[in-house]
Amino acid sequence: MSRDARPLDWSRPAGADEVRAALADLRAGDLPTHGGRTLSYVYDSGIASADEIGREALTAFAATNGLDPTAFPSLAAMESDLVGLARELLDGPDTTVGVATSGGTESLVLAVLAAREGNPHVAHPQVVAPETVHAAVHKAGHLLGVEVVTVPVDPRTLRPDPDDMAAAVTDSTVLLLASAPSYAHGVLDPVEEIAAVAAERGIRCHVDACIGGWVLPFLDDVPPWTFAVDGVTSISVDLHKYAYTPKGISLLVHRNPALRRGHFYACADWPGYTVLNTTLQSTKSGGHLAAAWAVVHAIGRDGYRDLATRARTATLEVAAAVDGIDGLRVVVAPDSTLLALATDERCDVFTIADEMASRGWLLQPQMFFAGHPPTLHLSLCAATAAHVPELVPALTEATAEAVRRGPVRVDPQLASAAAALDPAGLDDAALDGLLAIAGLAGDGGAVEVPERMAEVNALLDIAPPPLREALLTAVLDRLAR
Ligand SMILES: *Cc1c(COP(=O)(O)O)cnc(C)c1O
Repeated sequence: MSRDARPLDWSRPAGADEVRAALADLRAGDLPTHGGRTLSYVYDSGIASADEIGREALTAFAATNGLDPTAFPSLAAMESDLVGLARELLDGPDTTVGVATSGGTESLVLAVLAAREGNPHVAHPQVVAPETVHAAVHKAGHLLGVEVVTVPVDPRTLRPDPDDMAAAVTDSTVLLLASAPSYAHGVLDPVEEIAAVAAERGIRCHVDACIGGWVLPFLDDVPPWTFAVDGVTSISVDLHKYAYTPKGISLLVHRNPALRRGHFYACADWPGYTVLNTTLQSTKSGGHLAAAWAVVHAIGRDGYRDLATRARTATLEVAAAVDGIDGLRVVVAPDSTLLALATDERCDVFTIADEMASRGWLLQPQMFFAGHPPTLHLSLCAATAAHVPELVPALTEATAEAVRRGPVRVDPQLASAAAALDPAGLDDAALDGLLAIAGLAGDGGAVEVPERMAEVNALLDIAPPPLREALLTAVLDRLAR
């Protein structure tokens, strides 16, 4: 976050150049979105002309409104076309339908909503998912009053046993989930087996391919995970990830229209226009959709095959190189373009993340969870491929430096105090105190995110997940006061 953005004086209109300069100042504090050195949050195809046509379309359609497809038929046409392309990639039958949403989270919320609405006789609906399922599924459960039942994964393969998934199914289960691949570890769940459990019990099965859906169809030797698998009823695919389109678009694709009906919404119960929504949003810009449509066509099928192959090759190269880095290891062989790296006891991933950041590389720390060690997450994109020869020595140096420094040690007294805290009982003052202990206190009750995050991360790492949630929510709250 840039703290010294030039404030504009709102009491008079600002000139265009003044606004441009202020915007440039604001952007200067952000992570780089291009160049292939930011290995989460952003996806760079490295194709400048595709980015450009995407930005043009975004601008040209920014003011259009997806609220009413009959008023803006262009948007309906582009949405249909994108769903049609997804149908091809996902081996969808003729009956396949879908919608464009604002992102992976919305796609998953709608998949859970459709499953809930499709089972009106179930009083307390549940979904069953591997514990590695994306947090967006927990958010869906939270928003929709649906219980998320998680099944442990094998610590070696990071995949659930389909028998455990079957055993977790009850009469209240309305949906089974599988990831293709999981975000945290980059592995494909056993989709065929999970979908078979679902089909046998007459339950829906959603494949969360938010991150893999525009990559895996272009790779060879991938186990079946699409609509080609009997029992798979819906699939989510984010375009704003590996389709390299501007942010704000994902697709939720269903095997047939009946499966989609539950997330449509109509309301004539007020004096205004009849609200008809296919997604959570009502008024929505057509810009993201037009941008995605433009980029997807500008890159084309062969283009995506090339981009997916390059990202996959880079992933395998980095994985092979990590095998030769003392202190670091790949947690599980990657199925797609994501890597999870862990350390031995001589160093920690949080120090490596800081060391990499100081070398211009952004790797995402992932905390200890349910017996799984903390890791570094890397989403490798096509633009990173050319920079693997710089990434590997940086990672080697960063790990050597982390070994030299040794792992961050959290005061054992602090650790046991943290474990004993009841996050629900923490008031604002207590949270301020904890943020100060964590090293996040700035001036006058504000939070200040330090340059080096290893100490903060190590502390969060030993905190139980509910305390982590409470602390980070407090940070968010104080950042935005
Ligand atoms: C990114 C991701 C999501 C959430 O998508 P958003 O676009 O961030 O809302 C869900 N599932 C998986 C597997 C993801 O990688």
